[in-house]
Amino acid sequence: MRKSFLSGVLAAFATAAAAAAPLQVSALHPLMADLARQVGGDRVKVVDLVGEGGNPHRFEPRPDDLARMQASALVLAAGKGLEPYLNRLHDSLQGVRVVEVGSNIPSLTLTRDGDGAAGTPDPHWWHGVENMRRAARVVALALADKDPAGKVDFLANAQTYGARLELMQRWATSELAKVPRSQRKLVTAHNAFAYFAKEFDFTVIAVAGLNAEQNNTPQALAQTIEAVKLSGVKAIFPEYKANAKVLESIAAASATTLAAPLIADGNGSGQDAGFEAMFRHNVQSITQALAAR
Ligand SMILES: [Zn+2]
Repeated sequence: MRKSFLSGVLAAFATAAAAAAPLQVSALHPLMADLARQVGGDRVKVVDLVGEGGNPHRFEPRPDDLARMQASALVLAAGKGLEPYLNRLHDSLQGVRVVEVGSNIPSLTLTRDGDGAAGTPDPHWWHGVENMRRAARVVALALADKDPAGKVDFLANAQTYGARLELMQRWATSELAKVPRSQRKLVTAHNAFAYFAKEFDFTVIAVAGLNAEQNNTPQALAQTIEAVKLSGVKAIFPEYKANAKVLESIAAASATTLAAPLIADGNGSGQDAGFEAMFRHNVQSITQALAAR
């Protein structure tokens, strides 16, 4: 009696201790934070270092970010060269595992300078639904490595999430089927949609000078306008929360429409935060702008 009472108390204590001390996971990309929440559930406490609306291309860890990472069991990076500071990070963190979630996902190569040099891996793998399903499993195994008691939960969560993404993928395929072949072209402000284009049978039209932050020479602008006209596409896509001035003038000069902005880096905020919201937002924007009417 006494023994079973004691073991009951101990078990309750152990449960309370587990519940009281979730695994701290830091993320260097808002969508890696999303994956950690989806897969980790109550067993993890996620620190989103870039934060809603933040730009993962521009993020550089400051001393307080380093302290938060050092206090974590695990750091999740997107990988594929998105975080050029990772080597330095490995050196400065003591005993904290840094996982590059995208590292085993097949790479597409950048065709022009934008978020990296031409010929290097395109870091934007999170626009592939298939890739995100794979990434959920990578995150589940990384969490299980630090919290073996949670392994069954993590794998089950990754599976549930993956099943939800599969439904979303089917929804996207049927929505995007409304876009005729001649319009299945993405002219975007930010060269970020190659993985999306590959999965859903679109072509990315690489044009120079669409990024609002680049210096747009008159020659680059003229070339862009020419490329947009040649493509026959009826709309072009600015980027969420970015200045669309340059694109407005390109749209006017090429007689195309300016579509609703696309979210390129998972940096939506509020109701646009997280992978599923970003993806649905983008599919809706593309379908609205390019579908046959
Ligand atoms: Zn990007």
